[in-house]
Amino acid sequence: MLNIKHTICPSCSVGCGINIVSNGGKVLGTYPYKRHPINEGKNCLNGRGSVEQFEKRIISPSLVKNDELVESDNETVINLIKDKLSSINSDELCIICSGKNTIEEFEVIKKFAESFGTDKIGFYGYNFPNFDGELASYDDISNAKTILAIGDVLRENPLIGRRVIISKENGGTLISVDTVEKSNTALNSSEHIKVDSIGEFINDMGEIKDKLDGETVILINKIEDKDYFNPLKELAAKTGAKFLPIYKEANIKGAMRYLTSLDAEEIKKFIADSKALITVNTNLLDFLSKEDIKGKSFIINISNFEDDFTRLSDLVLPGKPWTEKSGSFINSEGLKQEFISSVISDDENLSEIEIFDKLT
Ligand code: SF4
Repeated sequence: MLNIKHTICPSCSVGCGINIVSNGGKVLGTYPYKRHPINEGKNCLNGRGSVEQFEKRIISPSLVKNDELVESDNETVINLIKDKLSSINSDELCIICSGKNTIEEFEVIKKFAESFGTDKIGFYGYNFPNFDGELASYDDISNAKTILAIGDVLRENPLIGRRVIISKENGGTLISVDTVEKSNTALNSSEHIKVDSIGEFINDMGEIKDKLDGETVILINKIEDKDYFNPLKELAAKTGAKFLPIYKEANIKGAMRYLTSLDAEEIKKFIADSKALITVNTNLLDFLSKEDIKGKSFIINISNFEDDFTRLSDLVLPGKPWTEKSGSFINSEGLKQEFISSVISDDENLSEIEIFDKLT
């Protein structure tokens, strides 16, 4: 029988509602959540495609031998992890999470790290550092007189892009900044500034500064270095502009409340200094090279889907995909959104929370 359940889109940090269509525990597809106040009945292609990765789903706990996953079981893999952890010092364990983890998972994983005694824990934050402070709301974007968009917000976060278009329809001006000549945001802007790096633009904004005021919203979804972030935030504070970073993963804002945002170099150093590495729903090859990882540490990979990093690991536990768990994400504008599992599966895989409970 067809089952349709509301949940939150995992494909970026906007926090759109999405419906999961399933049959007998198998995800068949998605369709937009009509009454959700953020996306008002629309989902972008990234959101609609968020279930395509299910084709590469890892079906059981596994050992990795000669770059191939060899099927095992929970007890064997958990015992092997316990053996490994009992053979190292507390500061030789490093844990890398991601913005795909729920708030509830961060709480349990952080507790595990504290009880083990390691402070080498964090998540890859795409060069956005932890920060506090007031944020622009999504309504502020629709009502802005000027929008400065850094990165291709219209292509990568289309439901924020929709708010940008509403601002334009109300007479607002869109200024685009990117390292590429052509982008969806550039095409819709009244001024596109092509730069060699976002950092170069942030350090030298020229006349753009004079166009920013209390009716401006600065959107940013791309930054190459954590050091560029504070100057941008200070500029927003000085000009009175509102400010909103948008992230590639649904719960980066939530991750910032619990863990340290790490960049690629910091993660590389953590790995080099560790004898065991636990990764949770992240593919380190998205930002490190094989040489940075292979042979450096014993890798325990908690991951729902097979990728090139899974085959570099030593042990794999599948955890549960977001469709099969309940929890909460915090979206870009700081709204905590709870969701419940939309599919019941009959596999015996442990959830991320159950895995860390067994290891604590
Ligand atoms: S804008 Fe982001 S959250 Fe909304 S549907 Fe697209 S990928 Fe999902």
